[in-house]
Formats: sequence, structure tokens, C-alpha cells
Amino acid sequence: METNETKIAEDKQEYRNQLATVTDDGKRKWVYPKKPSGKFYNARTILSFFLLTFLIIVPFIKVNGHQFLLFDFLNRNFILFGIPFGPHDFHLFVLAMISIIVFIILFTVVFGRIFCGWACPQTVFLEMVFRKIEYWIEGDARDQRKLDAEEWNSKKLFKKGLKNIIFFIIAFFIAHIFLSYIISVDKVILIITQPPSAHLSGFIAIIAFSLIFYWVFAFFREQACTIVCPYGRLQGVLLDQDSIVIAYDHKRGEPRGKLKKGEEASPKGDCIDCHLCVDVCPTGIDIRNGIQLECVNCTACIDECDAVMEKINRPKKLIRYDSLNGIENKTKFRITPRMMLYSIILVVLVGVLGYLLSVRTDYSINVLRTPGMLFQEQPNGKISNVYDLNIVNKTFNETPVLIKLENPADGELKLVGKNIVLKSQEIVETKFLVLMDKSKLSKMNTPIEIGIYDGNKLIKKVKTSFLGPVEINEKK
Ligand code: SF4
Ligand code: SF4
Repeated sequence: METNETKIAEDKQEYRNQLATVTDDGKRKWVYPKKPSGKFYNARTILSFFLLTFLIIVPFIKVNGHQFLLFDFLNRNFILFGIPFGPHDFHLFVLAMISIIVFIILFTVVFGRIFCGWACPQTVFLEMVFRKIEYWIEGDARDQRKLDAEEWNSKKLFKKGLKNIIFFIIAFFIAHIFLSYIISVDKVILIITQPPSAHLSGFIAIIAFSLIFYWVFAFFREQACTIVCPYGRLQGVLLDQDSIVIAYDHKRGEPRGKLKKGEEASPKGDCIDCHLCVDVCPTGIDIRNGIQLECVNCTACIDECDAVMEKINRPKKLIRYDSLNGIENKTKFRITPRMMLYSIILVVLVGVLGYLLSVRTDYSINVLRTPGMLFQEQPNGKISNVYDLNIVNKTFNETPVLIKLENPADGELKLVGKNIVLKSQEIVETKFLVLMDKSKLSKMNTPIEIGIYDGNKLIKKVKTSFLGPVEINEKK
């Protein structure tokens, strides 16, 4: 006779060999998750309200007339907390990216996939917006199944039509919000308020993203988490026995067995095999098989199982946030050497990034005597040197730049070409000459000081050298 233990062992083999949402012949198995309820679901609903509000209002927040957050990948311009960053800040960008990756690794090693369940935009939109609308229009899982199985009729047409129209309107709205972060809210407003022909590429982008979001939330759904998301795929290497995950306490739950009529509690393990934790799962998995990559930590199974445990007078948390060591050996959370190592790396990275940000200036200025050129003797007896000036305006402001020879005062500085007016985020490379009286030079290499000004405001003083004829040096 097949025991529960052998069944579980067989299940374990089976679930590792196939995706819960794909049939044996490779077709999509549509998931009809039961409508979740419970304290975690309520907490997630409240949090998602704040997250969505934040997501929607942030593009409208401006600091000194500029967007608070902007990720303009096309033009490689980013505004973080009102501070502009451009291509010249690439080193900061790389360092920030590495810090974020290490933070994600550390966070995942400690807390598993908690971000996916509570804060990932995919989960928040799917579970808290689209799925709620679906439950409202089509009913709970059983009604949805029934409706899908029905022949097309006026009721089905109305429900499906209404749902998909609302889905597309929301996807259309999300596309606008998404583009507000990428091309700026001002440009999105221009695209909306002017004829499509005036902003054809922007208009096409809005339509394309609307269709993509609609397709993702109406059809693709959990596949984004289980097949596409690289973070999900990395769980296998990031999680270990001490990571906090959503886990089924098989020691308490097994051997599972149905509760017979009249019994108050199962005579076997605490799991009464009601299947509700599976029915409610948006990725269609059975958490009782063990930790699986498809689990997005949505907590729906915890809520469902807690309600069951309450009904049968058993302690809650048969499914809970715990580590595998916590389940197996009842060990409490501990800081492992791996966590320590990642923490140290993160502190170092954040320290370096913080230092670089603190010394970051509004302008980056480089003055170099033009390589390969020594000095030139002018017909008027003066000696000149040519210098290369490279100046980057990292601010939002247009800056008229003045260059002065500060020291020695009796020298002369001549800019090659027009006066410099730096646009925001612009890089200008130009040349200038410094001229000095030959008679005033006492040595071959004379230190000089150049002042770079924004109007009357000194931006930077640069020390460099001025080369004169060798015989001056020899004379001395
Ligand atoms: S909800 Fe709880 S009791 Fe029901 S099958 Fe899942 S683990 Fe067992
Ligand atoms: S197993 Fe539980 S926590 Fe994981 S996705 Fe399914 S319902 Fe959510």
C-alpha cells in the first residue's frame, strides 16, 4: 500500500522535473488562484497602496524645477533625488550598481524572496490591481474556471470584455507612468497634449508599452516571475539553509491526512491535506513539496493555512516565514559567515560611493599643456604656451565660463575661439594660450595658476606650468 511518505517522496521528484504551470505536453496550465484573505494579505494590500501612490506621484515631484527621479537611459542622463548625473559619472553609476547588486544578494541571503512578495511592481500590480479587478468581475477561482469553460454567450462576452477594457486602460496608465520615469513627465504631457504626429516616437512608445503591460498582466502573469525574472532564477544560488523563506513545517505537518467527519484534529500530522495552500498559490505550486524557485513569497498560503489551523484548533504557522534550519532543527535566526562577508563588502562599497559623492563637484575641469608642444616665440618677443581645457558642466544651469590667468599677474591669457557658454551636462574641449614676456621668465619651467569662473564666481583654480626657452635656465 502506498504510504504518505512514499507519496511525498514521489511528489518531490515530480515537482523538480516540471513547472507547475506547464502541462506534460508543454502547454500553458492557466492558474486560477483562490482569492486570498488574511492578515498578511491585508498588510500587503495596505503596503501596495502606499507603494503605488509613491510610484505614481514621484514623477511629479520636482526639485528646483527638475524631476526628483529620472532614468533617461537613451540620453544617459539620470536625476537621483534632484541631483543630475550624466555620462561623466559612469564610475559612480558602476559603483552604485555593484552596491545595489551586493545589497540584493545580502538581502536575499537573509530574507529570501521577500521583495518579490511585498514590493516587486510585477506582484503589486498583478495581485493588488489586476487580480482584484478579475475577482470583482469574474468572481473567485471556481467561477472563473466555470466562465472559461462556458461557450461564448452574452454574459461571458460582457465580463471578458469589461475586464479586458479595464485592464488595457490601466496598462495604458502604467505605460505613461513608466515613461515619466524614462523620458520625464514633461515630455509625456507634451505627447498627451499635442497631436501624435508631433511626437511620433513617443506616441508609438506609449502604445507599445501599453500593449506590453496589458499582455503581461492579462496573459503572461506569473510566467514573468517563474520563467523570465533573472532575480527569481538566482534564488538557487543565493538561498541557503539559514535564509528566511516561506516554508511548510513538514515535521509538524506530516504525515498529512484528511480530517474525518467528527474528528477535531488529524490523528496524524497537522496538515489535513485540504489543498487550500495550493489552491491559493498564484504560481500554482505546492509549498508542501519544499522550497521552490517559483515561490514568490506572496504569503497567501500562510494566511490560508493559518485560517485552517484556527478552525481545527491547531497552532498557526504550519506554513510560515522560517529558515530550513529553523524547520529542521528549530534553530533561531543567526548571522552566518556568508552574511558577514557580504555585509563587509557592502559597507566598503557604500563607504567608497559615499566618499565619491561627497567630493563630487558641479564642474569637472582639466587643464593640460598641449602634449607635444613646448613653447612658441611670438614676433613681439613674448613666449606663448598652448593649453587644452576640458570642462564638464554637471549642473542643470547654463554657465558662461571665464578663464583668467591668476598668477603671475603680468602674463596674458587668450582663449582660442568663442567665449565658452556651457549648457547643462555639456562637455566642452577647447584651447587657450598663455603669453609671458621673455624678459620676465627666470627659469625654463614657471609655475602658473589659472582661474575658471562661472560669471564672477570662482569655480576652480588650476596649477600648471609654463615652459620657456632653455637658455633662460642656462643663463641663471
Ligand atoms: S493549507 Fe495547511 S492544512 Fe491545508 S493542505 Fe496546506 S498545509 Fe495542509
Ligand atoms: S507557495 Fe505560498 S508564498 Fe509561495 S507563491 Fe505560492 S502561495 Fe505564495
